[in-house]
Amino acid sequence: MTSRAPDIETIVIGGGVIGMAIAVACAKAGQNTAVIERNSGCGQEITSRSSEVIHAGLYYPAGSLKALHCVAGKSRLYQFANENGVAVKRLGKLIVATSHSELPALADIAAKAKVNGVDDLQVLSPAQVCALEPEVACVGGLFSPSTGIIDSHALVQSLEGHLSTSAGTVIFKTSVTAITWHRDSHFELDVLTSGTPAKVSARNVIVAAGLGMAELRSVLPHAPGYVAPDIQFAKGHYFTYQRRTPFQHLVYPVPVAGGLGIHVTLDLQGRARFGPDVAWTDTIDYGFDDKDGARQAEFERAVRTYWPGVSASSLVQGYVGIRPKTSRAGEPARDFEIHGPREHGIPRMVALYGIESPGLTACLSLADYCCGMIA
Ligand SMILES: Cc1cc2nc3c(=O)[nH]c(=O)nc-3n(C[C@H](O)[C@H](O)[C@H](O)COP(=O)(O)OP(=O)(O)OC[C@H]3O[C@@H](n4cnc5c(N)ncnc54)[C@H](O)[C@@H]3O)c2cc1C
Repeated sequence: MTSRAPDIETIVIGGGVIGMAIAVACAKAGQNTAVIERNSGCGQEITSRSSEVIHAGLYYPAGSLKALHCVAGKSRLYQFANENGVAVKRLGKLIVATSHSELPALADIAAKAKVNGVDDLQVLSPAQVCALEPEVACVGGLFSPSTGIIDSHALVQSLEGHLSTSAGTVIFKTSVTAITWHRDSHFELDVLTSGTPAKVSARNVIVAAGLGMAELRSVLPHAPGYVAPDIQFAKGHYFTYQRRTPFQHLVYPVPVAGGLGIHVTLDLQGRARFGPDVAWTDTIDYGFDDKDGARQAEFERAVRTYWPGVSASSLVQGYVGIRPKTSRAGEPARDFEIHGPREHGIPRMVALYGIESPGLTACLSLADYCCGMIA
């Protein structure tokens, strides 16, 4: 068993936008690559429930993986979208302070952005904000012209196309349940394919399982003493708006603990959605929690701070996404955790934890980084 050649050179576990981007990078680097995905299609979990924003890289601590891969990833993503017919719009984004006590937070974002290499951020007066978005009330703002939106479903489809033209493949309806490392040789993966147990072997393994990392973390091989990051789930609810909104740009308040605040994003058809909020949970459950209307009231209150004209009765329950977080409720946000041999002690294995926002923006840059870690 251990002496034969592995079935596949590189297996990527997880067919979300991160796993697909990594698989394309590995396949284009000449590796025989397969993605193992538990669903019947790619990108059906975190990736299909995001805000679809291409972030500029404003918020993240200098030198963090989030900052580096967001800034590098955004230009790559615009270019990829333009070259591959994936719908994208560089709408621009306002971040607004609605009280004088929030102005230091704006200054902090502007300083972080500069250190992160975002050189197009503009500081705006309330009148300049009003010229861009007449219905927004604020005491000051920032404008990020390089923030935009992308069709994340079309992006994943395009990555699937690139994988197949690079002779890579996706094995659907297959869950990885265990991984054994055969020292100096290969990995053996226990899988369930449509409920039937099987084994598959690979020389390299990259684990990009999103929320599934909460379970997989305990079955990955590791050196003695290593402890894989724990994954917590933070739900984000979105409300949509029944009427047309006046907005031409994305509009964000200053960030809150665990998220970016209840903001307005637009989809490619110009429809507005508000959110996501932050609701910590123990289970992966995409139900919309608002039986007593308290969440809707909270959204209305939050949106009214920067858009006094919001009509509460036009807010309609939308969808729910779930973030895989390596921090707990009340703790400061943490960086992406990408563990290779230096962290877990196993050669040719990379595991990605806590790939929350800006993971979509960063996917192509993260892909090269992870592929390089096993090369
Ligand atoms: C509410 C919300 C809003 C967001 N907004 C933005 C945004 O505007 N801009 C931005 O840049 N980022 C945003 N993000 C972050 C971005 O969506 C994610 O970083 C990205 O989609 C994560 O992709 P992924 O491939 O890691 O995860 P997923 O898309 O969840 O893919 C992981 C895949 O692994 C599979 N899997 C899991 N376990 C197993 C197993 N044992 N065996 C086989 N397969 C398995 C799953 O089925 C899944 O398909 C947002 C995230 C959330 C939750």
